[in-house]
Amino acid sequence: MKNLALHWQILIGMVLGIIFGIIASNIGIDWFVNDWIAPLGTIFIKLLKLIAIPLILASLIKGIADLQDISKFSAIGGKTILIYICSTLIAIVIGLTIVNVVNPGDGISQATIDTLTENYANSSSIQKKMDTANSTADAGPLQFLIDIVPDNIFKATADNGSMLQVIFFAILFGIGLLLIDPNKAKPVIDFVDGFNEVILKIVDLIMLIAPYAVFALLAKVIVTSNDPDLLLSLLTYAATVVAGLLCMVAIYMTIIALYVKKSPLWYLKQISPAQLLAFSTSSSAATLPVTMERVTEHVGVDKEVSSFVLPVGATINMDGTSLYQAVAAVFICTALKHDITFADQLTIVLTALLASIGSAAVPGAGMVMLVIVLESIGFPADKLAIGLALIFAVDRPLDMCRTVINVTGDATVATMIAKMEGKLGTPKVKDWDDHYQKTATT
Ligand code: ASP
Repeated sequence: MKNLALHWQILIGMVLGIIFGIIASNIGIDWFVNDWIAPLGTIFIKLLKLIAIPLILASLIKGIADLQDISKFSAIGGKTILIYICSTLIAIVIGLTIVNVVNPGDGISQATIDTLTENYANSSSIQKKMDTANSTADAGPLQFLIDIVPDNIFKATADNGSMLQVIFFAILFGIGLLLIDPNKAKPVIDFVDGFNEVILKIVDLIMLIAPYAVFALLAKVIVTSNDPDLLLSLLTYAATVVAGLLCMVAIYMTIIALYVKKSPLWYLKQISPAQLLAFSTSSSAATLPVTMERVTEHVGVDKEVSSFVLPVGATINMDGTSLYQAVAAVFICTALKHDITFADQLTIVLTALLASIGSAAVPGAGMVMLVIVLESIGFPADKLAIGLALIFAVDRPLDMCRTVINVTGDATVATMIAKMEGKLGTPKVKDWDDHYQKTATT
């Protein structure tokens, strides 16, 4: 197994995890998976999250300090936000187009709606999602700006949900470094640089257990998944979302081929471990350290670009999530016979865009923001729980797929911006044991 490329190792781990999960469910040893296998997956996700904040801090401060000029930073910053907004808009329009053409909500029978409502409408997870959505919606329109500014950096770094606050501080710190006497800045930059290398090395170390961890994660997903019959009744809806997501992959790969001028297959191979982890963890935040490592070392994007574009993307750019929200909103409305006009569809474009910016990069976050999208088009509040119940059974597999697109979108935009800025170089792959032999023998 050791000589196989990492993406093959992870893929084998995933397939074996699925097979093991199916066998475990069938012979009734779900408890064994939950008690003895799943913890490895949880530990792996915790390890990835553990290094996310230090990685953002170190790489972003170093990236900005290396720019040597604040105007370069604002140029990259402006382009990044603009391209992210455009890619999300494209995703939403694709989602709306496909759902209007396929119209999966039409084929849902009353019996299926009743079963799904009975199974899920009162479930605590759905209620929790609606409560979270309501508290988000109650906030003022500029609340997100207020939330970006931390009032205590230690508090911000202590919470993985405050990634934008950490990014804000790192940008300020980097700008400060650019503006002080270079002799004073140098030791700080050298320290941050070394710190950044250490964190990237820790990513390599954590990835050593990735194939086993994805085995555990997928076995757990299988033993906790829903009744296959229910999944089947939502097949057309799920296929519509997946078709939209595949269109996004086609768009990204066209950009890689035509603009970046690299082979899409080569590109996918370089970033595939990040995509496979996105699929297994359903969290672009947990995947971020690996995305950064792959895009920087394996694709050749300069740290100056990747250190800003990727963490910002993980928090505000969710093409897969917004496409899913567009499809899910129209699907729920059609299935529950709530008429939507063309103006409503335009409202969906706007709210799904804002929701993509506001969604946390964690499992299931897209469904929370879906509530806000539905409310914006006047979907009756008393039917919300039923609406969510309709799509709940397939939410986890779709979450896994949309997270892959979220991560692929971020990686593609980072590569595109690097190309634009002349910051796309030759990949320099570093293995976890590059210096190990040297140290061991001297
Ligand atoms: N799980 C997604 C992510 O972390 C967010 C969502 O769509 O629920 O990117």
